[in-house]
Amino acid sequence: MTQISIVIPARNEEGNLPVLCKELSEVLSTLQYEYEILIVDDGSTDSSWKTIQTLHQQQVGIFGIKLSRNFGHQNALMAGLHFASGDAVITMDADMQHPPSVLPSLISRWEQGYKAVNTLRIATEKEGFGKRVTSKFFYRVFSWLSGSPLKSGMADFRLLDRSIVEVLTSFQEPHIFFRGLIPWVGFSSTDVEYKSPPRLSGSAQYSFRMMVRFALAGLTSFSIFPLRISILIGIITAGLAFIELFYVLFTAIIAETSVPGWASTLGLMSFLFGILFILLGVIGEYIGRIFETVKGRPQFIIQDALNTPGLKQAKKSQTDGD
Ligand code: UDP
Ligand code: MG
Repeated sequence: MTQISIVIPARNEEGNLPVLCKELSEVLSTLQYEYEILIVDDGSTDSSWKTIQTLHQQQVGIFGIKLSRNFGHQNALMAGLHFASGDAVITMDADMQHPPSVLPSLISRWEQGYKAVNTLRIATEKEGFGKRVTSKFFYRVFSWLSGSPLKSGMADFRLLDRSIVEVLTSFQEPHIFFRGLIPWVGFSSTDVEYKSPPRLSGSAQYSFRMMVRFALAGLTSFSIFPLRISILIGIITAGLAFIELFYVLFTAIIAETSVPGWASTLGLMSFLFGILFILLGVIGEYIGRIFETVKGRPQFIIQDALNTPGLKQAKKSQTDGD
């Protein structure tokens, strides 16, 4: 029988996981699919892992893997994709902001033949004004720079067919940005809209610093436009310098007066140095990423796993290879 995998990255979600698993199994038992729920504990500091172990013992079909430390939401998702064994994999958050009631519509779109079913959040009550504005701004800038359209309201709540999962798990890049990768991979995709309730319990795990990091990872892995800015700024400043030089020569030769002041020289110099440092920073950002990619470290490390079917397969294929 065809199998559906649900991949849930979780960091400090002890209060949400039991509720989520209960609702998920209620929804999934109404469908004619076998299913597995795979929770990825991304270095939780609360008792999430204990909760996952208990859920695993109580209910058939719930599995867990524990990463050796906090690797971040995207890497935890990647770990989940590696060990999910279903023909379709649904990724969703642990905090109930991605309601299990949407699952049947995701699955029915997949049955219609779509290989990726994305979701669009239509109303977010209680989401801070700051977060709303910054995320809208980011999506705009990203779409514009990368040429790969991102819709605002898109989250890592989606269904992926096995064919896409196979492609994604072959990616080695250390800074994964699924929202950009999925349109990049291609295949037929569609959207399903849903209303997102506020987080059930606990606090949002994304700090401002993490969001900046996330945005930078997204931009630099999908666009080299920031690098090209240097050419543009070079042309503009060279043009301005040329005009200034022309003016200085003109006043000296024709009007026979010299342009007074060292302040303007100093101003111009510090302005140019400022630009230079910014551009060095941009280049440094990309070189840093090249360095990290060249090191080729794993995207995540598994510390513990609860008898996960996908893990068994992975182990088996390793021994087959020997
Ligand atoms: N998460 C994770 N690792 C992290 C941060 C978050 O696995 O380092 C998980 C978290 O437990 C949740 C999902 O990613 O299931 C989304 O996180 P959160 O709700 O904090 O983000 P937001 O909804 O604010 O975008
Ligand atoms: Mg959330």
